[in-house]
Amino acid sequence: MDQAIPSSIQASVDNHPRAEKRHYSEVKKKKMTKQVEIKYTQLFIDNEFVDAVSGRKFPTLNPVNGNVIAEISEGDKADVDKAVNAAKQAFDRNSKWRQMDPYIRGQLMHKLADLITRDLNYIAALETLDNGKTYANAVEDIKASIACLRYYAGWCDKIQGSTIPTGDTNITLTRKEPVGVVGQIIPWNYPFMMAIWKWGPALTTGCTLVLKPAEQTPLSALYGAALTKEAGFPAGVINVIPGYGPTAGAAIAEHSEIQKVAFTGSTEVGHIIMAAAAKSNLKRVSLELGGKSPLVIFDDVDVKKAAEIAHDAIFSNHGQNCCAGSRTFVHSKIYDEFVKHAKQLALAKKVGDPFDSKTDQGPQIDQEMLDKIMDLINSGKKQGAVVETGGNRAGNTGYFVQPTVFSNVTDDMRIAKEEIFGPVQSILKFNTMAEVIERANRTNYGLASGVITKDINKALEFAQAVEAGSVWVNCYDAIAPQTPFGGFKQSGIGRDLGEESLKEYLEIKTISIKITKEN
Ligand code: ADP
Repeated sequence: MDQAIPSSIQASVDNHPRAEKRHYSEVKKKKMTKQVEIKYTQLFIDNEFVDAVSGRKFPTLNPVNGNVIAEISEGDKADVDKAVNAAKQAFDRNSKWRQMDPYIRGQLMHKLADLITRDLNYIAALETLDNGKTYANAVEDIKASIACLRYYAGWCDKIQGSTIPTGDTNITLTRKEPVGVVGQIIPWNYPFMMAIWKWGPALTTGCTLVLKPAEQTPLSALYGAALTKEAGFPAGVINVIPGYGPTAGAAIAEHSEIQKVAFTGSTEVGHIIMAAAAKSNLKRVSLELGGKSPLVIFDDVDVKKAAEIAHDAIFSNHGQNCCAGSRTFVHSKIYDEFVKHAKQLALAKKVGDPFDSKTDQGPQIDQEMLDKIMDLINSGKKQGAVVETGGNRAGNTGYFVQPTVFSNVTDDMRIAKEEIFGPVQSILKFNTMAEVIERANRTNYGLASGVITKDINKALEFAQAVEAGSVWVNCYDAIAPQTPFGGFKQSGIGRDLGEESLKEYLEIKTISIKITKEN
């Protein structure tokens, strides 16, 4: 099936500063002619693409215009059951997968990384079409996914247990074993990368898996599934079930033969997943949830550079980022100058066709998110924050939002408390370290944070005091395959990435051996 991206997106803007009008109208004239062939639209179970048991399908939409890209098989409980059965068989102790030398498991993962590298441009195009992120960003995501997969490939034959002193009449050792069949539920903001973040540690440790991509963005995970078959993974090791959260997702969370569920998404759904795990079989749970991450900028910095870091921290991926620096705390001495730079950076952002190399920001993911973002923007206006730039939807087709900067934001405003998940920067003013630490931590979230200062003591004092899983000093979003990522408080449980994430997929077995002396 060939899916043409529509010819234009009418991103004209009313009631808007002139500079913005200029770049939106440039976008309006461009034709979006990229063709992306959609190869896989069915469920992937036991190394085969199959229809859903119910025969139902659901549409995946192009966020540029809301048009249907493709009809996708809609998995639900019956399909999750089938996939879990396939994954169970693949996990049988005599299966090819279980018997495999871990080094060979690593080679399979490298082979998968080779195939993703071969098809990088295609997968990136699929991602841009389904998600709306810019093609350049999609390419970066796929490259990061390859790096992640290769990082985990290297771990396969290095997962060692230990020997434990229990006296000369015993030998006690530990073995680290895969937990079994795992369920993985992922969001739409980094569709391919999230799949790989989850597949990496699961495959490394020798688990088998059932993954549900987000209903908004099923295409790249399905293509990735096809590549796992081509790479040579045994049937049943990797299964992909597109479908909706309350049906397919819930069936995974509740399944009594899934031993662990890994979830990335909203805090609200995180609560549901954990409750389902508790009510069913006490499966292990790892959750990577929402955030309202503080980025604190002291007065000893190069203000323009700090504004650039803060800009990327919030606007990358159109603000659709769980660790987005969505509360920009700026010292009162540099506040006005900082706001000026922040406004200029947002004004310079080109919004439009995500396939156009000049575009910085494509559409948001869907109507629901557009409505949510606009509701929060309007709340900011009503509650007295100053709109420095933006503040409106961009155009009236698709889900585009003007890059928006609010100044004079106070802690009590909704835009300072709720996760917006959109291109909206909220700039708050502070005076002292003690004050900003207290305010930064005054949230139920704790995913990430940042501090910009030339003073190492200030940086370290903040880094130690902030309640967040990541602290980025003089940078932001410094995430690598080997760096653990996850949240304090209601931003999650457990960690993705790094050695830490392997622990989520391993059981430890203690083996105690008695030595009987000859005489
Ligand atoms: P977002 O707000 O980022 O869309 P969600 O938490 O709603 O995040 O969705 C993240 C993932 O969780 C998606 O794959 C979605 O289908 C799934 N999901 C949503 N609701 C449920 C649920 N009740 N049970 C299991 N999974 C769910």
